[in-house]
Amino acid sequence: MKIAVAGAGIIGACTAWAAAKQGHAVTLFEQDTVMAHTSQSSSKLLHGGLRYLETGQFALVKKALLARRFWLEHAPELCRPLELLFPIYAGRGRPKWQISIGTKLYDFLAAGSGFPRSSWLDKAETLERCPTLLSDGLKGAFSFYDAQMDDFALGRWVVEQCRSLGVNVEER
Ligand SMILES: Cc1cc2nc3c(=O)[nH]c(=O)nc-3n(C[C@H](O)[C@H](O)[C@H](O)COP(=O)(O)OP(=O)(O)OC[C@H]3O[C@@H](n4cnc5c(N)ncnc54)[C@H](O)[C@@H]3O)c2cc1C
Repeated sequence: MKIAVAGAGIIGACTAWAAAKQGHAVTLFEQDTVMAHTSQSSSKLLHGGLRYLETGQFALVKKALLARRFWLEHAPELCRPLELLFPIYAGRGRPKWQISIGTKLYDFLAAGSGFPRSSWLDKAETLERCPTLLSDGLKGAFSFYDAQMDDFALGRWVVEQCRSLGVNVEER
């Protein structure tokens, strides 16, 4: 089938790649240049979405964690595991027990990814890792892992995969 995809941000590029992998004749049209817009200005995180656990979106988190794994396996030079800290303060923010359950569930859903498991850091350990954190009322922090990517380079890499499968890329 002949398929036209409009927009060479990460969504269009991945759509064109998926269609080309299925053997379709694909043209990817970009009104500007490849990866010129939102997809090069993200927070650059490959994340499963820890916060979505709060609303019970387990299937979504599982899917996103599999996507995180996909990119780390397929484009390891453009992505790397990243430790994140979730600080806990006395009397404000989410309680420790809630984040403890969330990070453990996150570990469970990410099983097999090879990422370090989440852990609790006491106040001293937390401030050692992150000295600029507000120390007043700080109890400690949960350490957990996601990944960081070079979003611009990753998108351009996907477009190169497209080209190697014969996708015609039309840009300005
Ligand atoms: C502040 C912020 C932080 C984010 N952080 C993250 C993050 O950490 N991790 C993450 O995974 N996601 C993150 N996202 C989400 C992610 O950046 C977007 O979901 C993603 O970039 C959307 O990709 P896109 O291809 O739809 O859009 P775009 O990158 O904007 O691409 C759309 C393209 O379509 C082109 N276009 C439009 N109309 C036409 C037309 N008629 N013909 C031809 N071309 C056309 C545009 O020129 C553009 O290049 C973040 C988003 C924002 C705003």
